[in-house]
Amino acid sequence: MRPGMQEEIWRVIFILVSCALFGWSLGFLVELIFLGILGYCLWTFSVAGRVFAWIDKGMRGIPPELDGIWGDITDTFNRQRRRHRRAQDKMRVTINRVTRVTEVLDEGLLILTNDRNLDWWNSSAKRLLGLRSGDRGTSVMNLIRDPDFVAYINQGDFSDSLTLASNVQDTVVLELTASYFGQQGEIVLLVSDTSRINHLQKLRSEFVGNVSHELRTPLTVIRGYLETLQDIPKNTAVENKAYDQMSEQVTRMQALADDLILLSRLEEEVGNSVLEEFDLADLLKTIVIEAEALSEGQHIISFDAMSTPLRANQKDIRGALGNIIFNAVKHNPTGANIEIKIEAKESGFFVTIADDGIGIDPLEIPRLTERFYRGDNSRNSQTGGSGLGLAIAKHALTQAGGSLTITSRLGKGSKFECWLPTHKD
Ligand code: ADP
Repeated sequence: MRPGMQEEIWRVIFILVSCALFGWSLGFLVELIFLGILGYCLWTFSVAGRVFAWIDKGMRGIPPELDGIWGDITDTFNRQRRRHRRAQDKMRVTINRVTRVTEVLDEGLLILTNDRNLDWWNSSAKRLLGLRSGDRGTSVMNLIRDPDFVAYINQGDFSDSLTLASNVQDTVVLELTASYFGQQGEIVLLVSDTSRINHLQKLRSEFVGNVSHELRTPLTVIRGYLETLQDIPKNTAVENKAYDQMSEQVTRMQALADDLILLSRLEEEVGNSVLEEFDLADLLKTIVIEAEALSEGQHIISFDAMSTPLRANQKDIRGALGNIIFNAVKHNPTGANIEIKIEAKESGFFVTIADDGIGIDPLEIPRLTERFYRGDNSRNSQTGGSGLGLAIAKHALTQAGGSLTITSRLGKGSKFECWLPTHKD
C-alpha cells in the first residue's frame, strides 16, 4: 500500500476514535462522530479544490504542499509532468535537428497529404519549385501543372522517378521521386536539380564521341599502309605475322571507335531520333545474311520471316539486333542452332534471338548491358569483342520505347527478347 494511503487511513481512524472518546465523555457520542466526519469531508473538499486549481493551471510550478493520499496524487502528477516535459524536450531537439538537416539539403523535400495537398517543404523545394508560404494546403498539381507530373503523382506506383523541365528556371532539369510514408498515405516528394549531372554526362558523351571520331582517320591511314606492306611479296614469315596481328588490332580499334561513336550518338539523341517506316522482317533478313557470312556455315541459323511494318529509327534497330545476332554467332561453338523469331502483339513486336550454345552464368546477366562488360566466355576467347554490343542494343531498344530481356543458363543456351512497340504517330 502507498504510504499516503496508510497515512490517510490513520488520519480517519484518529478522527473517529478522538471524536468517539470525546463524545462519550461528554455524553454526545453520535453527534461528535457526525461532526468529525463532516469536518473531514469539508477539509477533503478544500484540499481537492487546491489540487484541481493546480491541475487547471497546467500543473506548472511547485504542487500544493499536501500529505496523505492527496500528497501522493500531486506527487504522481508532478512526476508524470516532468517525464512528459523531458520527452517533449527530447522530441523538440530531434525535430530541430531534422529540420536543420533538411534545410542544408540541396534536394527539395516536400510532404504532401494523401489528397496531394502541400503540407510542408524545405528551402530547397521553395527555391526549385518557386513555392510561397501561402501555398500550404494547395494541391501540388496547381503548382506543377505539367501533364506528366499530374499523371505521375496521381498514379499509385512510384517505383520510377520523373524528369521535368523546371518552370522557374529555363535551363534547369528536375528529377522528382515520390514515395508513400505514414499511415494516412502521405507522400514525400524529393526534387533534385540534375542539370549539372546531365551537362557533365553530355560533355562526357561528346568527348568520347569526338575522340573516337578523331581516331578514325589515323586508324584508316595505318590500315592502308599495313595493307600495302602486307602485299609486298618478299616479306618474311615473321613480318607477315606481325602485319596480320597489327591489322587485326587496327580492325578491333576501328570497331571500338565505331561502337563508341554509335553509343554517344544514341545518348545524345534521347527522345529525338529520326523515325522512318520499314519492314522489320526485311531488315532481319539482311542481318541474317551477314551473320551467315560471319558464321562461315558453322552455325545453323533459322529465321521465320513475316511482313512486319515498323516505325522507328532503322539504323539504331539494325545496330541493336545486329549486335545480338552476331553475338550468337561469335560466342557459340560450331554446330550451335540460332533461331530468330518475330512475334506480333497488339502494340508491337517481340524479336527473339535464341541459341542452344554455351549460355551465360545467370549472375553475369545483369552486367551484360554495361559498357565494356565482357563475359568470361568472351574474355577467355579470341572473339575480339569490345563489350559494347549489348550496351548499344539496350540503348537503341530503350530509345525506340522498347526493352531487352536476357535469359540464359550455362551450357543450355541464351535467349534475347527484344520488345519493339509500334509507333502510331
Ligand atoms: P562483346 O563485345 O564481348 O560481344 P557484348 O556487350 O556484345 O560484348 O556482350 C557482352 C557479353 O555477353 C559477351 O562478352 C559474352 O560473354 C556474352 N554474350 C552475349 N551474347 C551471347 C550469346 N549468344 N551466348 C553466350 N554469351 C553471350
